Amino acid sequence: ASHRVVIDVNDLKKKYSAWSIRGRNVVEALRGASLQVHAGEVFGLLGPNGAGKTTLIKILLGVIRSSSGSASLFGAPAGSIAARMRVGYLPESLRVDRHHSARSALRYYARMSQMSGAEINRRSDELLELVGLRGRDRESVRQFSKGMYQRLGLAQALMHDPDLLVLDEPTDGLDPVGRNEVRKVIDRLRESGKTIFLNSHILQEVELICSRVAIMSHGKICVAGRIDELTQFDRFEEVAFEVA
Ligand code: ATP
Repeated sequence: ASHRVVIDVNDLKKKYSAWSIRGRNVVEALRGASLQVHAGEVFGLLGPNGAGKTTLIKILLGVIRSSSGSASLFGAPAGSIAARMRVGYLPESLRVDRHHSARSALRYYARMSQMSGAEINRRSDELLELVGLRGRDRESVRQFSKGMYQRLGLAQALMHDPDLLVLDEPTDGLDPVGRNEVRKVIDRLRESGKTIFLNSHILQEVELICSRVAIMSHGKICVAGRIDELTQFDRFEEVAFEVA
């Protein structure tokens, strides 16, 4: 893999203000987070609930703005059209109307883009094959297991051929078979040159999938590196898994 920087986050801060009967309450979700992800990496973001992982992902996708600091994708500011066009997102739980089949769900989703009907069909064939749903693409998704849903979600996220995929807890809540299937797809995507950024709170998953990880705690990245380097870090388990 080259060392081209795909995700570049510097001193990112985010404050939320919430109102309660006691008045205005400011939550500092990000307190100066910095990280770089390079082309071709499968990068894992670990950290306890409330550490700020979802907030960071939302800023990268352009769903919310940071309070200060910078975040860019492929050199373009997060949230800009140039950045959005190159990223695909798999939400934590994909919602698909029950009457859809995998194929019709992809077609429905792709109609929001500029793709022609022929292009949508060609791309659907390719992606259904990639995620291992080719033989079951005309069944109602009602029959699908959670792992099959996740794989359909991956196909959907790939429809516009993004260079970067952001996956929100991709194997969470899956049984071992489902996890294994999703991991296989992630491996194939890495081999095809995509950059992958995922968050998780399951160390074992991240160990199996990721080439590099960062641990987020209290709104900052406290350590980043190869997983075998990080497990040497003496407070590793404590920082990665304590409740924030
Ligand atoms: P989880 O694994 O539970 O999703 P997380 O690491 O993704 O946790 P965030 O969801 O980014 O953490 O939340 C970081 C902090 O910001 C938490 O204290 C959370 O309560 C707070 N927070 C998140 N969204 C909002 C919001 N819209 N308004 C106010 N506070 C928020």
